[in-house]
Amino acid sequence: MHCKHLNLNVEVDVLTTGALADIVNAILESLLFQRHQIPLVYKTYRYYVRKWSEEENELSEENVTSTTEFLRRQKENATKTNSSISAMKELVRKAFKNKCIKSLRFLFGSTTYTPKEAYTIHIPTEEISSNHSHEQHPMTIGNLNQTLLSLLTHPDLYTIFSSNLNPTNIYLELEISKQIIDLKTMSNAKVDIIPKEFCTLPPSCKDVQIHLLHTGNTSSSSLHCCKDLQVYKDFMDLHLEDNAATIEADSDSNKCKNILYKTNEWWEADIYIRGFKEQGSKCLNMWS
Ligand SMILES: [Zn+2]
Repeated sequence: MHCKHLNLNVEVDVLTTGALADIVNAILESLLFQRHQIPLVYKTYRYYVRKWSEEENELSEENVTSTTEFLRRQKENATKTNSSISAMKELVRKAFKNKCIKSLRFLFGSTTYTPKEAYTIHIPTEEISSNHSHEQHPMTIGNLNQTLLSLLTHPDLYTIFSSNLNPTNIYLELEISKQIIDLKTMSNAKVDIIPKEFCTLPPSCKDVQIHLLHTGNTSSSSLHCCKDLQVYKDFMDLHLEDNAATIEADSDSNKCKNILYKTNEWWEADIYIRGFKEQGSKCLNMWS
């Protein structure tokens, strides 16, 4: 299996780490449904799971039959899958906020050593602007959907997407620029990722390499919107340590590039998603 390389356009005026986290999470949601790890599109799936948790209190204890017990267990499993998706999305958000993410990959398979499919997302780190806030420059829903659509309908992925994939586990690994990781700080803080040896994918694994390309039409040097906001400036001062390396990257991008390429490390998220598929008869409709 040769690996597939494809470019995905990210159309936003200023590229922030917040926008990147949104895109990566949207790609995860799309892949989960596209690769049969959740039975409904993510937002619909989440809607039902939330509805169940509200209804839970209304269930009477008296008429518990084997059917209602079966449905209860199914809903419990579906809820667990939904919780782990939320946790992984939160981890992605935090990681982009605090660390210099070079690339990340989602592995579909029973272990991280035996993935059947791998989706690696390459981040255009040199394009990231740290002087602008995500809130001021979010990616529009229309542009985000356009990016997702070009992934899901990409001709090179047709063979992969038209094959079946049974419910399995989904793991997340992150390639982080090393000079920003302070191990001492991390051992005190709540650590949710663990360092790992980078392992190459097994030959049978379908290997998809997604390159995000920033295609916004405004040159960021001409924008002074966020720098003028006093509130944002205070925020930057507070987080100076976290952002020091990224700020440096903006002022001297070539120098940073060399460092970035030399000192990347792979980390593994300590949470994973277990794909959910409903069991048994179709007449037991849990999605109602
Ligand atoms: Zn701005």
